[in-house]
Amino acid sequence: QGDSADYDEEVQSVCPFCGVGCQVSLKVKDGKVKYVDGINGPANEGRLCVKGRFGYDYIHHPHRLTKPLIRCEDAPEKGLNVDPGNWHQFFREAEWDEALDIAAGGLKRLKDAHGGATVAGFGSAKCTNEEAYLFQKFIRQGFGHNNVDHCTRLCHASSVAALIENVGSGAVTATFNEIENADVAIIIGANPIENHPVAATYFKQFTKRGGKLIVMDPRGVGMRRFATHMLQFKPGADVSMLNAIMHVIVEEGLYDQQYVEAFTENWEAEKEHLAQFPPEKMEALCGIPADTLRDVAREFAGAKAAMIFWGMGISQHIHGTDNSRCLISLALMCGHVGRPGTGLHPLRGQNNVQGASDAGLVPMFLPDYQTVTDDGVRRAFTEVWKSGDFSDQKGLTVTEIMDAVHEDKIKGMYILGENPAMSDPDVEHARDALARLEHLVVQDIFITETANYADVILPASAFYEKSGTVTNTNRQVQIGRRAVPPPGEAREDWCITMALANRMDLQWQYDSPADVFAEMKINMRSLDNISWERLERENAVTYPCKTPDGPGEAVVFGDGFPRPEGRARFTPASIIPPDDMPDVEYPMVLTTGRQLEHWHTGSMTRRASVLDAVEPEANCSIHPATLRKMGVEPGGMVRLTTKRGSIRIMARADRAIAPDMVFLPFAYVEAAANILTNPAIDPYGKIPEFKYSAVRVEPAEVA
Ligand code: SF4
Repeated sequence: QGDSADYDEEVQSVCPFCGVGCQVSLKVKDGKVKYVDGINGPANEGRLCVKGRFGYDYIHHPHRLTKPLIRCEDAPEKGLNVDPGNWHQFFREAEWDEALDIAAGGLKRLKDAHGGATVAGFGSAKCTNEEAYLFQKFIRQGFGHNNVDHCTRLCHASSVAALIENVGSGAVTATFNEIENADVAIIIGANPIENHPVAATYFKQFTKRGGKLIVMDPRGVGMRRFATHMLQFKPGADVSMLNAIMHVIVEEGLYDQQYVEAFTENWEAEKEHLAQFPPEKMEALCGIPADTLRDVAREFAGAKAAMIFWGMGISQHIHGTDNSRCLISLALMCGHVGRPGTGLHPLRGQNNVQGASDAGLVPMFLPDYQTVTDDGVRRAFTEVWKSGDFSDQKGLTVTEIMDAVHEDKIKGMYILGENPAMSDPDVEHARDALARLEHLVVQDIFITETANYADVILPASAFYEKSGTVTNTNRQVQIGRRAVPPPGEAREDWCITMALANRMDLQWQYDSPADVFAEMKINMRSLDNISWERLERENAVTYPCKTPDGPGEAVVFGDGFPRPEGRARFTPASIIPPDDMPDVEYPMVLTTGRQLEHWHTGSMTRRASVLDAVEPEANCSIHPATLRKMGVEPGGMVRLTTKRGSIRIMARADRAIAPDMVFLPFAYVEAAANILTNPAIDPYGKIPEFKYSAVRVEPAEVA
């Protein structure tokens, strides 16, 4: 860091990593970002974590794509690892016109020969709102169907399904900063110290001023050090534990009768269902003593104001929707929704995963969660788009699209910023699917593992190289500003999608992201009173926003829910065991996730020099007693094997993990976690069970 003499320009933007959405000041010198400071955004008040502060120099990495690439006719087979520093054996450089002609021409040929439904699209939560909107429009208008999705399917799709079903909206009911007004909070299935580090600072402050924190997780996550109760329950046992807690609240009459009567439905069915889950019966199942379950129930129900935060430990299960249903019921029965210091908050993962879903980058909803099956809704959009109708059938989700490729129903794909060759469960299945495609267009900033399968690679812009809006976990719409130009001939993503659209004869005319934002506002009531000009001026506005100059609503649903009769719903949840249970051959449980320094599939953070220096090597975490039993020293190599595959990886000793579990980060291509994971999905959210696979752990053979 330095003073203003050290840089030419200061540009305000938003951190490109997690869903907290910290606002940053980028100090630019000679066309490069020199360093990054936090500024006073509504979600961070000047704070940044290590990724936001030091994880920026990947944008200037020599591996950046600077020209379009087209696969050589005599290239080796698709899927071989392309060395990003030496790709000439596989691809040749091309001018933009040729690359766009081949990219769009290939997709159009498939549409003409086999129908539009044979082409699918993956956008990304790393896209801005405007890019996400244009991407879903491209697939719907250009190919006439809804086979468009993005990585929300892999993180909180089940949370969103349960929230829409039971409270009528998929977004958080209160910002995380509302914890300031709470006296009790539950954090379950989340590890905010590593995954939402700036939000974690607010949670720690809450405990410092006397707030009671209840942490629930099969791993002894870092927040346990601040907790009044740490419930390290058995993996996959969420429903039994939560139903037992709610059983106590009913049994002891601790629920908020008035609230339940005024604002909810289906209470009698929920009450009756919960009778089957006394803590004394559930303690063996979930591993938490009945007395602790009773204490926690009394603490939460007795609070004046309480919040529930959850992460992917809740959502990434085949019973992920049921897990979220339980959390919603728990908050509703205690009346802990709609007041200051109360609320339901799934901590969203990526910097724009909320916004990308809001913008319609999902197969079942158009922007603002308006269903594709409604004729009036589709008409409202096609009138704005000046185009014909498209399918009234919900499209396929991320994992369903890969299955459809194997079934020869999908033959071409356009992938923007996603890396399914690393991020999909049972990733060899996804890689085989990508290799089968007749035509694959990948738009990205590096030659990712997915780009190894591409026919055309279009060089895109990193977040600090473009302007656009993003929406964080708090529903705060924030503006990101271009600080530096993309390298070489790389272009902003919205320009590339528009160029492809116009080669599909869609006749789009946008001069800027602000034009796109103006079109989005026509059919998105969530953006009422939020204008591009306002965002330019104020940097952030929370939706919903009731007045042209108000800050927006930090807490919603105080006077009812966007559901029939304004009532939220109790949906009882039963116990469903994980899909891939341990047995003699695979006796332990594998769970996957992120770690502080690395971001998702690692394509950005492993090229950020500071982050890579701090955390350079693929690793997994295992209890020291388990390592000792195997005769493996901490730092030694182990082999992890599931029914899908096997990897060799360095093992760290970690007392916070249960002796029969392994934790494996998914950022490392050299030991890709998703070679091991189970593709079984939750029936409602269609989210894979990344958090639970039976695994065998052995000392690794010498390399
Ligand atoms: Fe970026 Fe999230 Fe860290 Fe904030 S907490 S600096 S948004 S990674």
